[in-house]
Amino acid sequence: MIKATQADVDRFLRYVRVLPCGCWFWIGGRSKGRGNKIPYGTFNVNGRAVRAHRFASEVLGRQSCPPGHHRDHTCCFSLCVHPDHIEVVTAEENQRRKIARKAAPPAFNLEG
Ligand SMILES: [Zn+2]
Repeated sequence: MIKATQADVDRFLRYVRVLPCGCWFWIGGRSKGRGNKIPYGTFNVNGRAVRAHRFASEVLGRQSCPPGHHRDHTCCFSLCVHPDHIEVVTAEENQRRKIARKAAPPAFNLEG
């Protein structure tokens, strides 16, 4: 578990901008995922960098992530740090969702 003080939480929230859709957009540092090229927020706490969405889920949402589980963005936005948009799911469920989302990417049509 991440040990965080109220000062850490206050500092964290300075990097959050609430979007009209309800997502908490992370404007702090970011790094790319290990297995993918998707950007994730990073936040320094106790002298080491942690994923910003993990900090949000664990410290603000009080959700632990047991072994074999992943934190899934239900809003599908990797830079969102809203604790309610991050759900702890099994690795299998995470994989199932990943495949389903890839099969149905957002459509954009210039013709209208
Ligand atoms: Zn979100």
